[in-house]
Amino acid sequence: MADDLALDEVVRFTSDLIRLDTTNRGGGDCRERPAAEYAAERLADAGLEPVLLERTEGRTNVVARVAGTDPGADALLLHGHLDVVPAEAADWTVHPFSGEVRDGVVWGRGAVDMKNMDAMILAVVRSWARTGERPRRDVVIAFTADEEASAEDGSGFLADRHPGLFEGCTEGVSESGAFTFHDGSGRQIYPVAAGERGTGWLKLTARGRAGHGSKVNRENAVTRLAAAVTRIGDHEWPLRLTPTVSAALTELAALYGVDPDLARVDQLLEKLGPAAKLVESTVRNSANPTMLDAGYKVNVIPGEAVAYVDGRFLPGGEDEFRTTLDRLTGPDVDWEFHHREVALQAPLDTPTYARMRAAIEEFAPEGHVVPYCMSGGTDAKQFSRLGITGYGFTPLKLPEGYDYQAMFHGVDERVPVEALHFGVRVLDRFLRSA
Ligand SMILES: [Zn+2]
Repeated sequence: MADDLALDEVVRFTSDLIRLDTTNRGGGDCRERPAAEYAAERLADAGLEPVLLERTEGRTNVVARVAGTDPGADALLLHGHLDVVPAEAADWTVHPFSGEVRDGVVWGRGAVDMKNMDAMILAVVRSWARTGERPRRDVVIAFTADEEASAEDGSGFLADRHPGLFEGCTEGVSESGAFTFHDGSGRQIYPVAAGERGTGWLKLTARGRAGHGSKVNRENAVTRLAAAVTRIGDHEWPLRLTPTVSAALTELAALYGVDPDLARVDQLLEKLGPAAKLVESTVRNSANPTMLDAGYKVNVIPGEAVAYVDGRFLPGGEDEFRTTLDRLTGPDVDWEFHHREVALQAPLDTPTYARMRAAIEEFAPEGHVVPYCMSGGTDAKQFSRLGITGYGFTPLKLPEGYDYQAMFHGVDERVPVEALHFGVRVLDRFLRSA
């Protein structure tokens, strides 16, 4: 059982980590080292031997291993990123890097994404050192740099250059999952992530004949690009149910007592009301045009026009994504991946999933655990290259009215102290049972 000191420490660590500004502006503009050193010191206090690893100076990752009681068991990876997205102080109620604890709530950038989980991991392993408890499996702890940009200085670097540190790891646990989703009519749902859509950020290039803006031009690159962008933006992607999403819909249908007819998903989503939010972004691929770039003078037709599209594809959906983009862009517009990351699918019929479920149910008996697929991606994509199956499990018991999804990269990001306490208890229980 996590002790009282662990409950104090998780709050203090969350607050301290928020105060160490690790804003990742992309393009290499970030310095995680102070947060990495903070985490490493606390692991070393607990008798562990953390190693600090950098591909680029200041972009520090921390890895440590807790020896399990069963040396023959597969290891479990527990990972959290140390960087955060930027925050504009003028927009916030409190300073985003104050880490202020006010009225039982910890405020600041990273309070849910994801210095809270980093703090929970530290608090739990330190409580084991005090009480002499140990997990059955080896637990490999990784605090990573650069998750909020390319991961090249973080999990990508660790997976490529230091695979030996993850020896024996078959499964991983990290952000976004096991939080309380209130449906507005009294039900409390705890979605556990067992999959991620893939990332397909696209660059579209239309070519045509440059010329004077007053002349007839049937090969106008801007017109061609605009047509392709409109076709992509208007496209209705067909429904495609992955195993995780099918399971989620089936379990939600049972919870709501509605017909679990997976052949009529749109109707089923309607019947689920607010809970449909948990699945609606993951029942199909998507592609949203986000940036346009063409021309330099109103009376000059440019020879080229460029657009960017944020595409996401389901596990198993990449081939369809590619062929659809070929068709929608047409012969006059080329497309390429500006950035591509794999989709992930984790099994639900595993002891690990069952133990995550049981740990939540023990401390939130009123809650209903359901699997879900994340619409975006995490470091689990990089670690999947090492054969590690990723789950999203950052337990937080949240009050009604607290908009968890809006906290991610949002203004006034914050987390209740009670939620952190729940997280420590559930994470401790899960890790010791895993
Ligand atoms: Zn995150």
